[in-house]
Amino acid sequence: MLRLTSSTGKFTELLPDDFVIAVCKDKILFPLKNHEIYKGATAFDIGIHNEKRIVCMNLPNLEDGVPLRSFFAEAEPEIARIVAYASHLVWWRTLYKHCPSCGKLLKEHESERCLRCEECNENFYPVISPAVIVSVFKEGKILLAHNTNFPPGRCSLIAGFVEPGESLEEAVHREVMEEVGISIKNLRYLESNPWPFPNSLMAAFAAEWESGNLKPDGIEIERAAWYAPNDELPDLPPKGSVARKIIEEWLSQLIH
Ligand SMILES: [Zn+2]
Repeated sequence: MLRLTSSTGKFTELLPDDFVIAVCKDKILFPLKNHEIYKGATAFDIGIHNEKRIVCMNLPNLEDGVPLRSFFAEAEPEIARIVAYASHLVWWRTLYKHCPSCGKLLKEHESERCLRCEECNENFYPVISPAVIVSVFKEGKILLAHNTNFPPGRCSLIAGFVEPGESLEEAVHREVMEEVGISIKNLRYLESNPWPFPNSLMAAFAAEWESGNLKPDGIEIERAAWYAPNDELPDLPPKGSVARKIIEEWLSQLIH
């Protein structure tokens, strides 16, 4: 049973019984064995799992760590949630050391999970970047697209970051129009999940095609096509991603 703390995330001392997640940029080691040797290292208390305290820490050299993406793809949902939390928190605390305005060292807030500049009297909360992802359907087919950042052959749903001043729904309509040139209707919210690469929160939607022919923008999206469940599908996004989950739900006819 997992219980995540919501108001801490402060520096803590490692204790012998702790469940320790070590993070180093895009690698992870969980649970870290023999963590007594890291006594004195800075760690963050993030919650309780099976009555053990979970702490995470940043280790600069994690040679035997597993790439975060492959760990995330294989992990049970509850473990993936812990790992997402840990790597996001470590990313934030490692990056945000100084006040972006005056450059003074930031300090932990007394009672909230944020960093404080006493000089500027400003609080800096963990940075979370909202993104949207959408499964678009047309007559039982799903829209899959190849992004230029993907490995060759891989296709996924349309996704993108939310712009300042934009609602999640507006972001979905804009991304679909910009990337493949079509209008959508009957947009509905499905679910959300943290995506710690390094700091996203993905909000997933489903929608129906309304008008327009597929016209990939040629910048982010190289090609896009409608796929029926019986078609030979391209290489799909990795397990653990919300895109893969939605595509599999469509293949099982749970969503359309
Ligand atoms: Zn400052």
